[in-house]
Amino acid sequence: MYKNELHTSFLSISQNESLARMIAAAFAAQLNPTIDELTDIRTAVSEAVTNCIIHGYENRGGTIYMDCSSDDEGITISIRDEGRGIEDVELARQPFYTSAAGMDRSGMGFAVMEAFMDRVDVESEVGKGTCVTMRKHISARVEEND
Ligand code: ATP
Ligand code: MG
Repeated sequence: MYKNELHTSFLSISQNESLARMIAAAFAAQLNPTIDELTDIRTAVSEAVTNCIIHGYENRGGTIYMDCSSDDEGITISIRDEGRGIEDVELARQPFYTSAAGMDRSGMGFAVMEAFMDRVDVESEVGKGTCVTMRKHISARVEEND
């Protein structure tokens, strides 16, 4: 059984969106994924981290926590902020729903995460923060003597 874990935290600034994407992709690369699987993971991580920065912390800064874990079947990534939280998670997850229409947002972030990952769980509490946990299946192609 092959298992790994990575725990990171970084400042809530837009520069760290690409950093988080690269870290998650580097971690996932150990499972020997396809290019498409890696692209899916990168895209989903970007959406989740962007949401922490602009909605969770409302561009005022804070700390974002990203935890990755992997096993023979795939990867789990959770991205968490301690920002303002979401009042109605079910509504927030609807395609095209955005609370920031004036900021040129399309409301497709959660829909993108759901399309590219196999499972997306959202836990949130108003005033406390939000945690998005995403799971993606990656067929085991791990080399024995890595
Ligand atoms: P887009 O992602 O297309 O730019 P968006 O960010 O508004 O637009 P989603 O990513 O689907 O769309 O998020 C929907 C809504 O959920 C947001 O408008 C916001 O109200 C809420 N939301 C999402 N993530 C968070 C978060 N981390 N903290 C607080 N609210 C959030
Ligand atoms: Mg979004």
